[in-house]
Amino acid sequence: MEKKMNQLEKTARKWLEERGVKPEQIAELVYYLQQNYHTNLTMDECLENVDRVLRKREVQNAILTGIQFDLLAEQGKLEEPLQSIILSDEGLYGIDEVLAFSIVNIYGSIGFTNYGFIDKQKPGVLKYLNDKSTGMCHTFLDDIVGAIAAAASSRLAHRAANTE
Ligand SMILES: [Mg+2]
Repeated sequence: MEKKMNQLEKTARKWLEERGVKPEQIAELVYYLQQNYHTNLTMDECLENVDRVLRKREVQNAILTGIQFDLLAEQGKLEEPLQSIILSDEGLYGIDEVLAFSIVNIYGSIGFTNYGFIDKQKPGVLKYLNDKSTGMCHTFLDDIVGAIAAAASSRLAHRAANTE
């Protein structure tokens, strides 16, 4: 039954993994967001919803674009002033969030609530991505991962509402 993965999806998944983010860790964020709203929620269900989100072209495009900027900033290859802005994860920049909204948008407006909440709390892998002491730049990736978790949570919530 497994649909054949195209090159875009394969690369997006590979890049996520190479930057230290496993689908299971995003599933943990979904569980964190949704555990109080669904009785008997399982990690398998959370992972299935993350998987579905990762199959979307918009999401794959956002992953590749965001990680590319993080990598170039890490390598010092961007032009100033953008280089310093992205490398220091300057608070007023905001384009990392705008890119992440292209993911949050997919399953409707409840995604925004989930995204805002998880962005404030920074549980699990988001804490790791915000740890500046690793020497890596995750200015874009932290928002993308939060957005994937928010979108997967929305998908899960919509589906639960339709089957109840
Ligand atoms: Mg960010």
